[in-house]
Amino acid sequence: MTKVTLKRKIAPRVANGHPWVFANEVQGTEGAVGAGDIVRVESHDGKYIGTGYINPQSQIVVRILSRDPKEVIDDNFFYKRIARAWEYRQHIGYTENCRLIFGEADFLPALIIDKFNDYFVLQTLALGMDRWKGAIVEALRRIFNPKGIYERNDVPVRELEGLQQVKGPIGPAFDPQIIIRENGLKFHVDLEHGQKTGYFLDQQDNRRAISAIVKDADVLEAFCYTGTFGVHAAHYGAKSVLGLDISETAVAQARRNAELNGLQDRCAFEAMNAFDVLKAWSKENRSYDVVMLDPPAFTKSRENIQKAITGYKEINLRGMKLVRPGGFLVTSSCTNLVQPNLFLEIIALAAKDARRQLRQVTFRAQSSDHPIIWGMENTEYLKFLMVQVL
Ligand code: SAH
Repeated sequence: MTKVTLKRKIAPRVANGHPWVFANEVQGTEGAVGAGDIVRVESHDGKYIGTGYINPQSQIVVRILSRDPKEVIDDNFFYKRIARAWEYRQHIGYTENCRLIFGEADFLPALIIDKFNDYFVLQTLALGMDRWKGAIVEALRRIFNPKGIYERNDVPVRELEGLQQVKGPIGPAFDPQIIIRENGLKFHVDLEHGQKTGYFLDQQDNRRAISAIVKDADVLEAFCYTGTFGVHAAHYGAKSVLGLDISETAVAQARRNAELNGLQDRCAFEAMNAFDVLKAWSKENRSYDVVMLDPPAFTKSRENIQKAITGYKEINLRGMKLVRPGGFLVTSSCTNLVQPNLFLEIIALAAKDARRQLRQVTFRAQSSDHPIIWGMENTEYLKFLMVQVL
C-alpha cells in the first residue's frame, strides 16, 4: 500500500483524530499514487496514523477512513460503518427520517446520506468516496431495502475533486416527489429539485422547540423555504403565520405543505426578498409575537467572514425590531465559520443597537442525527437561538 508521511508538526492534529491531511502537510509519499486509492498515513518517524483515500488533485489530499492498521477498506467496511451509523441514530431516538451519514462525524468523510423513511438521498463529495458509491448503495439495499435512492451530486465542491456534477435516481427510476412525516405533521419533499438533499433535516428537533412560544401568536417566518417552521407554528396553535422566501418554488411548496396539514387558513407564504422586507417593515413599525429567521449560509470562506457578521447583525437587528415587547425571536445560522460564541456576540450587538434586552430561552445546535465530534470544529455548524425580546 502506498505510504504518505506527514510533516512532524502536522502529525499530532491528524493523530489526535482529525481526518483531513492537506497537501502542504505531507512530507513525502512512497509508492504509486492513483487518485482515489487507499493509502497508509504515517508520522514522520514511521508510526501508523490511519488508512485513508488520496486525491493529489484536491487540497485535502488524504481523508482518513480508519485508525485500525488491520482494517481492510472494502465493500464490507462501508456496510459495517453504515450499519453502525443507523444503530446509533436509532439508539438516540430516530425512527423514520434522519441524516444517516454525516460525513466526518460518522467516520466516512465526504459522504452524506439522508434517510427519508424508505427513500435515501446520497452525496459523495470527494473522489475517494465517490469510488465506493456501488458499495454504499449495496449496503443501503441490504440494510433498508429502500423504495428509492436518489443521487444529489449536483454540488460545485465536487469539481475541486475533479468530479462532475450529477443527479438522478440510482437504480430503478421512481417518483422523487415524496411525503415525509415529522413531529406528527406531513411535508412534501422534492428529492429532485429541492435545495441540498431536498429537505433540511438538521432543524427537525428545533422545529419542535417552538411549540410553547407560538401558541396564539402572530408569527413571521423569514427564509422559510418550504414553510416547515411556519407549518409547525400553526400546528402548535399560532393565530397567523406569514412565511417569506425568495424562491417561488419554495413558497409554492410551503403553501402545499400548509394544505397537506389542513392549516392553510392560518398560513400565508409570499415570495419576497427577506432582507428588503425586514428592513422596510421594521421602519413601518409592523410587529409580530414571534419572528423566526433561518437564512442560508452567508459565507464559506474566511475572507468574507466580516460580511457574514454584518449580514447576521443586520437581519437580527431588523428581526428584533419587529418583535412586540415580550415576544420571541427564533434565529438560526448555518454558517460553519461563525462559531456559536461569535453568533451570540453578534446577536448581543444587534440587541444593543435595537435597544432591546434579551432573555434566553434556549441555545442549541443542529438536530442530534448530525453528530458533533469534539475536536472537529466543522461538525458543529448550526446555531439555533430562541430569546424573549423585552
Ligand atoms: N428554515 C428552513 C430552511 C431555510 S434555508 C427549513 O427548516 O426548511 C434558507 C432559505 O433562504 C432558502 O429557502 C432560500 O431560498 C432562502 N433565501 C435566500 N436568500 C433569500 C432572501 N434574500 N430573501 C428570502 N429568502 C431567501
